[in-house]
Amino acid sequence: MSSSILENIRSFKDSLPSSVVLVAVSKTKSAEQIMEAYEAGQRIFGENKIQEMEAKHKELPKDIQWHMIGHIQRNKVKYMASFVSLIHAVDSLKLLREIDKQAKKHNRSINCLLQIKIAEEESKFGMDEEEALVLLSSEEIREFKHVNVIGLMGMATFTSDTSKLDAEFGSLARFYETLKSTHNFSVLSMGMSGDYRQAIEHGSTMIRVGSAIFGAREY
Ligand SMILES: *Cc1c(COP(=O)(O)O)cnc(C)c1O
Repeated sequence: MSSSILENIRSFKDSLPSSVVLVAVSKTKSAEQIMEAYEAGQRIFGENKIQEMEAKHKELPKDIQWHMIGHIQRNKVKYMASFVSLIHAVDSLKLLREIDKQAKKHNRSINCLLQIKIAEEESKFGMDEEEALVLLSSEEIREFKHVNVIGLMGMATFTSDTSKLDAEFGSLARFYETLKSTHNFSVLSMGMSGDYRQAIEHGSTMIRVGSAIFGAREY
């Protein structure tokens, strides 16, 4: 017997350390399913498609905090700039410039994370550490008044090999620690349904969990 969304949220809330924020990844899931998690007290939801997130934002309670966790096309930033609460997968200065521009139109600041590539899989996006350092020390980033880079995000290889996960999460956590105080970082987003326990052991402060809450996705 599979447990309900409500029970899953409750058991996450009971078992997670207080230092770890749960993002319920609701991509492909219906408003009803999201509301079931909402009734259990969940307020932070993650989506990977901007227009799907925009539609859900319109339809659902306004105290939900929407996180964009997917890869972003610059021309779509405008659709989420008025409401998005955290953008996890920033991977270029160009994208940051567009987020700054769109946030300015709404007279707000948007919190962002830099996505660092830690997996070996080619399909995974992100910058390497060198590129992130170049971005963070660029002249231009200091002129952006409407974006706050508050941490890092990474996706590990899809594997049950715990030594591989240790290596990937470990390297991201070390990089995070080297930047944390100088850049005032407070968020390390790593860990999904299959690997969040290891991610937390390595110091994750934010996990992005979909299927362990909502069940398997059907596309
Ligand atoms: C889909 C997705 C998740 C959640 O994956 P699950 O394995 O279902 O927990 C987390 N992060 C990103 C970036 C995703 O696209």
